[in-house]
This record gives sequence, structure tokens and C-alpha cells, in this order.
Amino acid sequence: MNCSLCNVALPLPLRTTFTYAVPEPMWGSVKPGSRVLVPFRKKSLVGVVVEFVENAPQGAKLREIARVLDIFPALTPKLIELANWIAHYYLVPIGDVVRAMTPPLTELKSQRQVVLTEAGHAASESLSGGELSHGLVGSETAFLAMLKEKKGAMCLKPRAKSEPDVSSLQKLQRLGLIEIRESMQTKKQKTQRVVAWKAAGNHADKPLAEKEERIRMLLERERGPLPLPQLLRLANAARSLVERMLREGLLESWEEPLDPAEDPFDAGYARSAHELNAEQEAALKAIRARFELCAFGVQLLHGVTGSGKTEVYLRAVQDTLARGKTAIVLVPEIALTLWIGRQCRSWFGARFEGVAVLHSALSDAERAREWWRVRIGDARVVVGTRSAIFAPLENVGLIIVDEEQETSYKQEEAPRYHGRDVAIVRAKMENAVALLGSATPSMESYYHAGNGKYELLTLTSRVRDRSLARVEIVDLREEFQQTHQASPISSKLHAGIQECLSNRTQALVLINRRGYSWSVLCRSCGASVECVNCSISMTHHKQRNRLECHYCGSIQAIPKRCPKCQSQYIYFFGEGSEHLEERLRKEFPDARIARLDRDTARTKRQYQETLGAFSGGALDILVGTQMLAKGHDFQRVTLVGVVSADSSLSLPDFRAAERTFQLLTQVAGRAGRGELAGRVLIQTFYPGHYAIQDAVKQGYTSFFERELHFRRMMAYPPFTSLANVIVRGTRLEQVLVWSRQLSQYFSPHDREKVRILGPATAPLARLKSEHRFQFLLKSPKRSVLTKLLSGALEYCDRKEIPQTAVLVDMDPLSLL
Ligand code: ADP
Ligand code: ZN
Ligand code: ZN
Repeated sequence: MNCSLCNVALPLPLRTTFTYAVPEPMWGSVKPGSRVLVPFRKKSLVGVVVEFVENAPQGAKLREIARVLDIFPALTPKLIELANWIAHYYLVPIGDVVRAMTPPLTELKSQRQVVLTEAGHAASESLSGGELSHGLVGSETAFLAMLKEKKGAMCLKPRAKSEPDVSSLQKLQRLGLIEIRESMQTKKQKTQRVVAWKAAGNHADKPLAEKEERIRMLLERERGPLPLPQLLRLANAARSLVERMLREGLLESWEEPLDPAEDPFDAGYARSAHELNAEQEAALKAIRARFELCAFGVQLLHGVTGSGKTEVYLRAVQDTLARGKTAIVLVPEIALTLWIGRQCRSWFGARFEGVAVLHSALSDAERAREWWRVRIGDARVVVGTRSAIFAPLENVGLIIVDEEQETSYKQEEAPRYHGRDVAIVRAKMENAVALLGSATPSMESYYHAGNGKYELLTLTSRVRDRSLARVEIVDLREEFQQTHQASPISSKLHAGIQECLSNRTQALVLINRRGYSWSVLCRSCGASVECVNCSISMTHHKQRNRLECHYCGSIQAIPKRCPKCQSQYIYFFGEGSEHLEERLRKEFPDARIARLDRDTARTKRQYQETLGAFSGGALDILVGTQMLAKGHDFQRVTLVGVVSADSSLSLPDFRAAERTFQLLTQVAGRAGRGELAGRVLIQTFYPGHYAIQDAVKQGYTSFFERELHFRRMMAYPPFTSLANVIVRGTRLEQVLVWSRQLSQYFSPHDREKVRILGPATAPLARLKSEHRFQFLLKSPKRSVLTKLLSGALEYCDRKEIPQTAVLVDMDPLSLL
């Protein structure tokens, strides 16, 4: 093959690759999948070689690759194939896809170590005596000499000019003079300062100030010893206060090692080894039968909550490994990677040393380390969130997608893709089995199981004949008529929590908004305080004492007067999780309460701490957002309260009913998983809605039938494919012009095979300072959509509409 010209995918928002010349010394070391440093305009960029080509495009000046960064290619041929598929199907820039697939660049600094071998030592001795040997050139002998000077080992910094290029390194390696280690360097261990309440304090003589009291509550009752930064955040206290309390002997502190990869709950975790029950056994048998075929296939494991799906997954992975293949397990939440990762380690860790965990909360260094462990074959099982579908495993035999219906599998920024759907495509490319699991499968997947495209496996009952939790509706209309109060905690929910507390069991309380109040309104003129960048109202965060936009992250001070009419009748309404936590603390002053949402669980550590405290029994009530609904296996939860089922029901989205049903069924699944029976209270103003009625019965198929009927009538997925096209820009007139142009392109195509709705203002008319217009495309055939849209994008290029102004969302999950 001619390897003098290649196409490189660059991290630019452009839907093309770029052709570069490969200088002759790099022939042999540049391969498809290699990361390379190339000149682009006036910059240097890191890209990935996707293919060799025969001819350069006409006209353009051909430039050369400056450096090869990988000794062996970062991406496998299968991943390049997958990247191409994603770029084509989702109409996204290949550079974006490839960037999502490759490990963070920071790792280039510390990743590779060169070590002088014994032969190398000997050679450099003789070299220093002036003899030339092995046919080395000057820069290579100089490098050996330098290596020797550095005590025989050094790390490569591939961008440094002083180092030999990859082909020289490979030559030295071939001659046995050096060894190259794709090393996981052991860094100096970091520590963190942990603060604790000093129990035998001599502070009885002095009453505590409010902030001091809060710190005492946190350290002594609610949480136990805490890392300093977390304490400051939770107590909303200044560092100087803590320092003073330390001096006064109220607190004590010490340094603790902080190993980012360490999992504090790992210790002593024994492998659960349940005998499978008959249903689990039957499911596993079907999965094994599928393996026997050695061919691609999709299976949908529909198992009610608590039916023991994880146990089936683990055995399927075990079987895959025994066949000499590798496996990917995708989970929807970071917290679940920890839980399932732990189980996988306890099952497969010792034998294969081989479980890697990949998710977005890892630091770049951790991510790079895990990624390379997979790439060089040290890890053969990968557990992770969405992007772990790009794990550089070879010989994949099984891809599991747990809770396949979860929206978190959909990436809502470039490159937009659906992790579950990519999983199926990857499985097909690898000739592997895709195993989708859920208690509430998405409409699409269950529909495919019904028409034979997927194989359906079912677990109808909970393990050990435990019954599903009893679900009851709290009709908020009745509640209001009786109490004339609009508290988010109805009297029934209050009584239920009280009962938990007296029985020493635990309660989960779910609310689907974070913050303190999600709307700030002027009573005088009716204006609501909106984000300066988005057409969305600001959320009040009490602890942080400010307003925040949950879409763009902008911050405002809390206004004293209405920004429009200057009246002082500003009021806050719509209670969020922060408010609910405060209320619960007031109503149950003796309970140990914690909150879990994106504000309190910003890092993996914080997640772990709270979840660990709850499952360890150090908390009575856990309040939080949907984060709580997913997957967790808490043994002592007897009550789950859903503060309002309505907010998700009333979203302007055809999937609102499906989402509501899924959420309610999932949370209901958190109750009664241990020995104790569970109970669920759902508060709603619409007790008659079928999504709520079916959730009460936990009747998946009944819901599916009703919803499917609606989808058929309205020609929505799974009966049609959708694409959402957003035209956006900071100048309104410009966006209008572009929308009109696109509309001219689309309108002749608006026929039987494709329906084109729009342009209309998008439901989120302004986002991050951009105006947004929307087209919605529907077609019974997806390939028709793909073809039409790629034509539309070419048309945009011709009309010089910038590529960043037109955003295509294939198979959108949200139409906002
Ligand atoms: P799901 O994911 O289906 O909701 P899990 O996999 O979390 O359910 O399993 C629920 C609980 O049942 C876990 O604590 C698990 O250890 C336990 N379990 C699984 N299989 C069995 C079995 N065959 N016998 C007894 N307990 C089991
Ligand atoms: Zn006003
Ligand atoms: Zn905003």
C-alpha cells in the first residue's frame, strides 16, 4: 500500500478530513488510527489518521505531518469504521467523533517511558568510546547518550523538539537498545485535609454561633469527618472560621491520602454469588445460545425492578471472557459505574486484572490510564457511561446496555449520538451480542422486540419472591381541599416518613428540580427574572445566595427590586430540592437527612460519600432528583415519595408520558428491595392520566400498548424517524434569513415520504445568547432523512451558511 498520503480527522467543526503528506522517515510508523501532529493554518493540531489515499485533492497546497504521537495507533480499525458510521449517520464532523474516541491529550506528557536496556547500556558505552555501530545516525546516538545520562530512563514528551521521532525510537527498540513502556506512571500521592469534630471538646462554657453549630451538626451527626473543601461548601463557611475553630480545639484535622482511583467501598467487598432462579437461568441460557451462534444479535432483557438483572449480566460477561472475548457494560450514571464496576472487579478482577472504568468524572490522567489499560489489553471488561462505547477493546463479544431507555445515553452536544444505538451498531461490526436491559424498555426497543428484530427475554418477578412495592396516589386536589395548604409534603407523605423514622427504616424523597425556587416573579408587573442569555427563568439557589441559569450557567445576584418595574414585590415560587431538604429538616428535626442532586454531588467522591452513607444506614432520609431513581440497590428503603409526578407530564414533548411512566416505575423499584416490604407515594394533580395509572399498577405492557397506539396515530417513533434541525445565531435577522433559505431547500421535498414541519421558533427560543428556529423532519424511512439532510448541509455550504449555525439532531430525544 502507498502510505505517502493520508486523510486526517482534525478537531474542527467541519464535516471533512484533511489530506497530508507522510514524510518518508515516517512511513511504517504512521498507520490508520495513529494520532499525529499536523500544521493547520497557522496552528499545530493533533488529529487522527483515518485512511491512506492515492491522490491529494486538487489545488490545495499539500503539507506534511509534523510528528507521529502514537507508537501503536490509538484507534483500532474497528473504531475508525465506527467513527465513519457515526459521522455519516448523525451528520456530525468526523473530527468531533474521533476526539470523543481518543484519550485526553494530557496523557501524552507522562504516558510513555523509554528505558535503556542492558544492550543499550553496552552500546552507549562503546558509543562514547567513539565507535559507531548498529548503523545509527547522529541524533540516535545522541539520544542514547542522553538517556544514559538520565540514569537510563526518561519520559517522552512527544511534542518536544529535542526527541527523536517515532521511527527512530522504533529502530532503537528493534535493535533491542531501548524498551518503550506505555506506562502508568505512579505519581506522588496526593493528600487532602480532613476535618472532624473533636468530641471531648472543652467548649461547654461557650455557646456556639450559628455557623459553628452547623459545622458541628455536619461533622458530628450528619456526615462524619469531611474533607475541608467539602465542609466549607456544605456549611457555607469561610476557611478562617474553620481555622479558628481548629485553634480553639473544637475541631481536629489530619492529612489523608487521596488516591483518585481508590474506591473506599472496595475494601472487603465480597463477590455476591447467588444461585440463579429459574427465570434468570432461562435468560442466561438464551444469551448463551446466542453466543453459540457467533453472530450479531440484539437481546432485550425486560426484568422488573429487583428481578436480578445484574446477576445475569455478570454471568454473561463471565461467559464472554471464557470464550476469549471482551465485554463492554454501559450504565446510565456515574454512580452506577462504581457499583457495577465494583461487582465486576470482584468477579473478574483477580483472574484477569481486567476491569477498567471509564466515565466523565475521571480526571484526564485517570481517564488516560484506564484508556491505555484497555488499549494494550490489560483490561478486558470495560464498565462506563455513554462514551465507554468507544473503549478501544478488541475482539468484543458482548455489549450490555443497562437501563437502555435512559436519556443520559444520548449526547446532547457535538458529536450528537445515542450510546445505545451506537452500541448496537458496534456489536454488529464486531459480530457481537448486544444485550439491552431494562425494567421499562424504551418504546423503540420493546417495539423491535415485538416485531422480532430483537429477541425478548423476561424476568417477571423479583428475586426471592419479594413483591413489588405497593404504589399509592396522593391526589393533590383533595389534599388542598382538606388542608388549604400547598406544601410539597402532603399529610400522607409526612405520616409515611414519620412511620419510617419510628421503624428505623429509610425513605427516599424525589423531586425533579434542583435549586431552592425555580421561578422568580414580580407580583406587581408579572415579569419573571430570565437569564440574560436564554429564554428561561433563573433558579434561586439559597445556599449559594444567587440566581443561576440551568442551561448556560450564568449567575445573577438576587434582585431586591423588579428589574422591569422597580417594585419590591419580588417573590419566589416552585420548590426545588434545596427547599425540600430545608422543609424536611424542619418537619423532622431529629432525622438524619442528606440531599443528592447535581449541586451536592459534583464529583464521584461526593456521590460515593452520600450513597455510601445512605446504604450504610448513616442516613434516614435521602432527598434528591432523578439521580436517586436509577439502579441503586438499597436494602432498607421502605418508602419512596414522589413530590410531584406532574412536572414531567406537562412538558411539551411527545415522550412526556413515556418519561413519566419510566421515572415513576423506576423510583417505585427502589422501595422494598430487602427483607422489608416497600411503599410508594406519588403526589399528582392528574391521578387519572394513563402514565400514572399504569405506573401504579406497574403494568409495563398495558402502558406500552396505550402509548404505542398514540404514537401510531401521531406518526411518532417507533413508527417514524425524526430529525430536529435547529438554525441558530446571535443576530435574529441573520437567523431568519438562513431559516428561509433552508426552507426553500426543504419545501420541494415535503411529500409523502418526508414531512417537514417548520421553520418555527424553537421551544427554547433563545439559548446561550443565540436565537433558535426549528425544523422537524419525519419519515417512515430513516435513510430518506439521512439523504435529505446531507443534501441540505451541502446546500448550506453553497449558500455560505456557516456549519455551526445549522445543528442537526438525528433521532432527537428532546425537541426543545
Ligand atoms: P435489578 O437490576 O433487576 O433491579 P438487581 O440486579 O439489582 O436487580 O438485583 C436485586 C438484588 O437481588 C441484589 O441485591 C442481588 O444481589 C439480589 N439477587 C440477584 N439474583 C438473586 C438470586 N438468584 N437470589 C437471591 N438474590 C438475588
Ligand atoms: Zn415588576
Ligand atoms: Zn442561560
